[in-house]
Amino acid sequence: MNTLSRRHFFKLFSGAMVGGGFSFPAFGAQIRREESQAKPFFLTRGVVLVPADLMLSDWPERAQQAGLNTIGLHHGASPRHVVDFIRSDIGQRFVERCRHLGLQVEYELHAMREFLPRGLFAKNRDLFRVNERGERTADYNLCIHSNQALEIAGENAVALAKVLRPTTGRYFFWGDDARPWCRCNRCVELSDSDQSLILENRLIAALRRHDPRARLAHLAYSNTLSAPAQIKPVAGIFLEFAPIDRAYNVPFAKADDKSNGKHLEALDANLRLFGREHAQALEYWLDVSRFSRWKKPAVKLPFKEEVLAADLDTYGSRGIRHLTTFAVFIDADYVRAYGDPVEVKLYGERLTRWRQRKL
Ligand SMILES: [Zn+2]
Repeated sequence: MNTLSRRHFFKLFSGAMVGGGFSFPAFGAQIRREESQAKPFFLTRGVVLVPADLMLSDWPERAQQAGLNTIGLHHGASPRHVVDFIRSDIGQRFVERCRHLGLQVEYELHAMREFLPRGLFAKNRDLFRVNERGERTADYNLCIHSNQALEIAGENAVALAKVLRPTTGRYFFWGDDARPWCRCNRCVELSDSDQSLILENRLIAALRRHDPRARLAHLAYSNTLSAPAQIKPVAGIFLEFAPIDRAYNVPFAKADDKSNGKHLEALDANLRLFGREHAQALEYWLDVSRFSRWKKPAVKLPFKEEVLAADLDTYGSRGIRHLTTFAVFIDADYVRAYGDPVEVKLYGERLTRWRQRKL
């Protein structure tokens, strides 16, 4: 036991002694009941950041004070940046601070280029996808009818999982960002959603040999927004729904917005296939980078608390208990330009307070 955990242990132990010494059984039961009533409905209350955002060095404290419990690390270009960060002193201090504050740490990454290195194209083109013009190409993703490609991807997923091990057992290893899958004679009958699920079904088998409690996200987003139609998820796959193209000036459930309607239908179809128990929505409520069209300088976040409140009803009423949002570009520059981001606090408070209405 190191010094820190020993200190924790004694703190917990002495707390238990005080409580145990002065409580009556009925009183204890009442407290437990009240505690269970007070437990937030949303089990995951998260933000997803890129390493550069952590130059705002008190992000973990801000998250914890807002009632959040999970920080996901992401990078737009390559998981390599997140690996480098985690291996650095700053990264190690970040992980340690999160542990100390009781925050979970996860990794949400487009990882295909790491899983099937593009350099293999010169040796074996059949691992790679065929594009719309019928040409084999190493540009994006892979051919899911290549057993060898799936095998290599599984091995590399395990290698990455050894470095980026989430504290929750939930892995987020996505296909290339909004990029097409294979159009070879055998793959062409399968949608991009079906193709990505075939890969995920293979990856979870490999990950569970390394980490038995592993779960792996199926990302419903952009070209994989529609529910898979031909392939079923195996145990351990859960839905992650990221409605990047929805409108944020009106609630998600506002049916007369065309884009929102399309996303909601896709959400419900995906929930029917994947179930709701572990489903997560990855949202953009705090994503300054999205509202800045992914370019600095960052705009001020156009946050509407009433939209967030209505959206929590939309997700919560469907039984979705895991919510997170990108909060990229809420960093040291942002605080200098716009002051303290009170939206993080409002977001955390809303998620912590939300309860299912009794019917
Ligand atoms: Zn193919």
